[in-house]
Amino acid sequence: MKHIVILIMALAIVSCTSSVNAETETDKPSNIIFLIGDGMGLSAVSATLYFGDEISEFAQFKEIGLISTSSATEKVTDSAASGTAMSSGKKTYNGAIGVDTTKTPIPNIAEIVAKLGWNTGVVASSTISHATPASFYAHIDNRGKEEEIIVQLLESEIDFFAGGGIDLFNKRTDGADLFKTARERGFIMDTTSLAQPGSLLSGKKYGFLLAAGGMPPMLEGRGDFLPDVTSLAIEQLSQEQKGFFLMVEGSQIDWGGHANSVEYVVTETLDFENAVAVALDFAKKDGNTLVVVTADHETGGFTLGAKQDEESGYGDYKYIGSSFATNTHSATLIPVFAYGPGAENFKGMYENTEIFTKMSALVK
Ligand code: MG
Ligand code: ZN
Repeated sequence: MKHIVILIMALAIVSCTSSVNAETETDKPSNIIFLIGDGMGLSAVSATLYFGDEISEFAQFKEIGLISTSSATEKVTDSAASGTAMSSGKKTYNGAIGVDTTKTPIPNIAEIVAKLGWNTGVVASSTISHATPASFYAHIDNRGKEEEIIVQLLESEIDFFAGGGIDLFNKRTDGADLFKTARERGFIMDTTSLAQPGSLLSGKKYGFLLAAGGMPPMLEGRGDFLPDVTSLAIEQLSQEQKGFFLMVEGSQIDWGGHANSVEYVVTETLDFENAVAVALDFAKKDGNTLVVVTADHETGGFTLGAKQDEESGYGDYKYIGSSFATNTHSATLIPVFAYGPGAENFKGMYENTEIFTKMSALVK
């Protein structure tokens, strides 16, 4: 009797494991949309509940994990090291873009899927040569070399890009006209506005640069640029139906954290949430798209503490009194949200480099 019970238990374990394996092996996405809220910690995500609509877009995700973000050299990462960890799977030093600790270039997820024939895109609300988007196309020892980084963008496999950075194209210290280079490389460029939905040509490459430097903050009238460009990029990259990878960055949550401005953090996070909604809507209709949402690190040590009564010093639990612990980055764990084929792989607590490992395992 005892033996039979053990045998049944063993069989149950074997059948469970094999069905789980079968699922992860066959459940592979044909597209990946990777959204990074720069500087978006759990308090910023929580702010979508208290300062946004009653239902947070983040509540739609069932597969949720946590990443630690320290770089190879520092406990507290910057966006370059963390961007590289997530795009390329290696811990490197703060400031490094797409290179390891020996400054050797390492392949990123966009390059890997481009080899498989996928289309690729990067969009951001900073300059498109800023550390986070650069981690998905450039390889350079220092994030500050934005003029060189933007040259690498035009030499890369990227088919669609949008953000700020006109000055990096035509007000350069080397005097080069990168608009000319972009046209020679087959890009259709626009510096005035995003194209109308349905107007982009299949098989063409597009670049939208809508500000001299970074895009304006939400508080200064950026409007729906990020959700709109997310939609436009998806529309364009999916036209040829050969698979696509899109990185979307809500760049300025981080800048709000550095500025210790609650309004700045909250408005940028709500805008990023709208871009997440666009990606999720597409993924739900498409059925073959993996959506992963996370941050590179937290900025500001942003909290949602109870408002403190100035006279008594006691907390007034009826109200939130947000505050900041620092005007730089923090080392807190960062949430990861995943939806679609392979999303279950993103559960658990792990290093930021595993974002790359998990994504690249799903596309092989
Ligand atoms: Mg960034
Ligand atoms: Zn920062």
